[in-house]
Amino acid sequence: MDDGFHIDNEFLTKTIIIATGIGSFKPKKFPLKMNQEIEKKVHYYINDPNKYANQTVGVFGGGDSALDWAVELANRSQVKIIHRRKEFRGLESSVNKLRKLKNVEILTPYLPKKISLSDNQLTVELKKTGSSEISYQKFDQIIVAYGFRADNRFVRNWGVNLKGTHITVGPEMNTNVPGIYAIGDAINYEGRVPLIGLGFGEAQIAINAIMRKLFPEKALTIHSTSI
Ligand SMILES: Cc1cc2nc3c(=O)[nH]c(=O)nc-3n(C[C@H](O)[C@H](O)[C@H](O)COP(=O)(O)OP(=O)(O)OC[C@H]3O[C@@H](n4cnc5c(N)ncnc54)[C@H](O)[C@@H]3O)c2cc1C
Repeated sequence: MDDGFHIDNEFLTKTIIIATGIGSFKPKKFPLKMNQEIEKKVHYYINDPNKYANQTVGVFGGGDSALDWAVELANRSQVKIIHRRKEFRGLESSVNKLRKLKNVEILTPYLPKKISLSDNQLTVELKKTGSSEISYQKFDQIIVAYGFRADNRFVRNWGVNLKGTHITVGPEMNTNVPGIYAIGDAINYEGRVPLIGLGFGEAQIAINAIMRKLFPEKALTIHSTSI
């Protein structure tokens, strides 16, 4: 745009520097076909563990988040933790804690295959990995802790080019869209390593380039950080 970029109809700016790291995080979804009623009982975050009190909760996942939530929920709920491998990725001490609890069932190695809802209860078909054994488990609620995915794809809506999940930049940290720059772990170029120091340096390069464009009449002292 000639006069700059309008952001949320609130800000007008001549340049933008994108510094979103590896991007915004979204939870990995439960990989089963679900209708809206089922989705209401499948959660990716827990705001208040007390909402699950006196219920049977299925926790799916094998990392620290899954184990931590299972330990926490076991204070007030019946818990079944389901993981696709025999060994958990998370802390052994958490697994040992769960093994000692009478209201916790550890189901491994199982993969969820189907989900249905009847009489306000979820039934999940679990298949034992490496075998044809099927188990049906009932839950009031399910917590999915399969980790997160991050990406910067939102910048495509601005016309900014990405290579894979990273923004492509030129030597002044300029993207393909005039006026939009990118720095830090959001970008990649040959030889780049994702370390803090590089991001700081790239910020200096981008800001100096922007200053030269915005104020071409000014003689900038590039060796000074006071700009
Ligand atoms: C476990 C770990 C250890 C590390 N140790 C070191 C170390 O010892 N030394 C070192 O040099 N480097 C280390 N790093 C790497 C270092 O953290 C990164 O290189 C650095 O943080 C990248 O800075 P950044 O500003 O580009 O991105 P980030 O620090 O990731 O900041 C990006 C910010 O943008 C926000 N954001 C993302 N998407 C959006 C969006 N759509 N809208 C609004 N906001 C958004 C994020 O929430 C975040 O706050 C480590 C990284 C990790 C994960």
